Amino acid sequence: MTQILSEVYLDYSDILIRPKMGINLNSRKDVNLQRLFKFKHGQTRTGLGVFNANMAVDEIGEFIKSARAENIPLDNLFITIGLKNIDDEIQKLKDLESKYDWKSPRNICIDAPNFYIQKALDVLSRVRTDFPDAVIMAGNIASGDICLKLLDYADIIKCGIGSGSACLTRKQTGCGTPMVSLILECADIAHSVGGHICADGGIVDVGDICKALCLNADFVMAGGMFAGTDEAEGDVIEKHYETSEIIDDKPVIQTKYFKQYYGMSSEYANNKFAGGMGNYKTSEGRELLIPYTGALDKILQDITGGIASCCTYIGATSVKHLSKCATIIQVHNQLNKVFEKYSV
Ligand code: 5GP
Repeated sequence: MTQILSEVYLDYSDILIRPKMGINLNSRKDVNLQRLFKFKHGQTRTGLGVFNANMAVDEIGEFIKSARAENIPLDNLFITIGLKNIDDEIQKLKDLESKYDWKSPRNICIDAPNFYIQKALDVLSRVRTDFPDAVIMAGNIASGDICLKLLDYADIIKCGIGSGSACLTRKQTGCGTPMVSLILECADIAHSVGGHICADGGIVDVGDICKALCLNADFVMAGGMFAGTDEAEGDVIEKHYETSEIIDDKPVIQTKYFKQYYGMSSEYANNKFAGGMGNYKTSEGRELLIPYTGALDKILQDITGGIASCCTYIGATSVKHLSKCATIIQVHNQLNKVFEKYSV
């Protein structure tokens, strides 16, 4: 018989982090935003733990070259492969080694919209065999039951199905799990065996990143939040709109700027990377024009500033201590949106 679990599963918009008296932190500058991650399969890395959504292996060679030229550190760069043609994907990773001198530290993300298939587990164990010293992130999943199985080979499990801003999975398949409950469930299981989790998708505001970290996510991945920046793929698109304001008998024209953002399972991405939709798939991703947001640095400062400020509200001296210090409350209203349409 089909069962309905009656416990309510919560999302970021259903909760807030309650400020409280704790260790006296006088300034956001006193907060340590660096964390040391010790991974299940032996490696260590340091960083804040916020990822931009995946970049395909085809595009990465040139990125490595230009990052090296600009002295951008690559220790925390994850290279993403999919499940299709695993021999080709492994070969591409090995080519990166020979052509671009991509050696340790190696970080690999095995990305599949649905990791609940045997092929995904086969690819994961094969990648672990071929790259024993890599940090491997694998996903996506949306329940705790599969976590231990993945952690036999993976270091980080990517959690989240259906919550992404360009995602149509919930509409097209009815499948998914709200992020807050999912993070709690998966983090608990993964941490019990020394594994880590990455909360992927559904970040609307920096506050949601803070919530994910407070709930015990080790990493957070966001796509839409970075997709409007100068550094994201694609050109800035300019659009002109007539407003209701009239000057000299003519409507005032307003100019707005956008960038293209598309889901990796959208028809657009399927045509670009996977040779089309075939006659058996439905599109589970959207193609969007989202507001242009300018330099990536500005968003990064918002993120680090927001996390540091969250730490001061709850008395956490370091980002690592957020989950220890946080009290989470369930709410009906989390934001006051009364002037939202007047935003400039
Ligand atoms: P966002 O931060 O934009 O809310 O979510 C980013 C995440 O959405 C990605 O890391 C990825 O897991 C997921 N995603 C990206 N493209 C698609 C898609 O086409 N379909 C689905 N179901 N998820 C997607």
